[in-house]
Amino acid sequence: MKTYEIAVVHGDGIGPEVCQAAIDVLKATPVANALSFVEYPAGAGHYLKVGNAFPPETHAGCTKADAILHGAAGIPGVTYPDGTETGIEFGLQLRFQLDLYANVRPIKLRPGVTSRLRDRKTGDIDYVILRENTEGLYAARGNGVNLRDELAVDSLVVTRKGIERICRAAFELARKRNGAPGDGKRRVTCCDKANVLRTYAFFRKVFDEVGEHYPDIEKDYAYADAMTVYLLERPEHYDVIVMENMFGDIMSDLAAATVGSMGMSPSSEIGDHHGFFQAAHGSAPTIAGQNIANPYGTILSAGSMLQWLGERHNDPRLIDAADLIERSVEAAMMAPDGLTRDLGGRATTSGVTALVVKGLANGVATAAQ
Ligand code: ATP
Repeated sequence: MKTYEIAVVHGDGIGPEVCQAAIDVLKATPVANALSFVEYPAGAGHYLKVGNAFPPETHAGCTKADAILHGAAGIPGVTYPDGTETGIEFGLQLRFQLDLYANVRPIKLRPGVTSRLRDRKTGDIDYVILRENTEGLYAARGNGVNLRDELAVDSLVVTRKGIERICRAAFELARKRNGAPGDGKRRVTCCDKANVLRTYAFFRKVFDEVGEHYPDIEKDYAYADAMTVYLLERPEHYDVIVMENMFGDIMSDLAAATVGSMGMSPSSEIGDHHGFFQAAHGSAPTIAGQNIANPYGTILSAGSMLQWLGERHNDPRLIDAADLIERSVEAAMMAPDGLTRDLGGRATTSGVTALVVKGLANGVATAAQ
């Protein structure tokens, strides 16, 4: 039986708590014996200890692993001399070094969770933000200029290859989905500022070119500023939304809040050869160490990891286990003590993790009882 090595980086803040929750859940699945976990250090805490937020052994371990699971990283104030944060070095560098170009962020209003948007119920919000993950404004990280402390410049970089592959991934994803909740239409929305900057106008042009190969999928457009309103006013219109790196970062935080909380949202960062899985949220230092962080986003990311590994290695055991995690999470959310504080409940991190584990042990059905 094939086994899969998972590189685990716990990180900072709530990272270790939510990462451990995901590992506990993975170990409760029927494929537990097919997974081996190898821990590596990275993040702001590690930088404080040894002066390096992303050591070479962590890079090597992540590169050779079958998949990478991460909690979250970053401690406010632990910065490089240029003022940028050390903690996010790991995640950002990994994206560029392993070419993890597609950051897939599902936004789904799940059963048992109340949306902050009035009158939205389960099934009304179900779309995916596809964030280009290796180019855009964040590609300038570490390469910008601060001239005599009088002038600072970062550049927004996009390439034809980069736009083509993320747009192709968006249309392919739309083909696998059931369309937008509002009208059932398969749709890919290009979110940009094509009206202001050449880079975004180019992004839209290439989006259109790629879209021509997908006549079965509706092409749709929104400027990023208007998008912040549309995601609140008509989330049911959206199916797959593709955007540049920084817009994807910002927009997915806003979107997560509409389906409960930042803690809810899983994220997969996928390239042609590697996959990196962590929740969409950061290290939330103000709630760290209190057993109150919402672990669902990281647990769902671990489920996406099994799905990705299963498809990649043609291993249906992993795909079934991913489905089991998803169902067990939804059953836990509907249980009387299934919601953490950020979702309006009183459950603890360990409490909801135990519910998911119990659901897995019982084949899901009894978790909601
Ligand atoms: P980053 O830039 O590293 O992504 P961020 O600045 O977006 O981080 P987060 O750490 O994601 O910030 O926190 C944003 C807000 O969401 C904070 O109020 C935080 O407490 C809350 N939050 C984030 N993750 C969780 C979680 N898992 N459970 C509960 N609340 C969370």
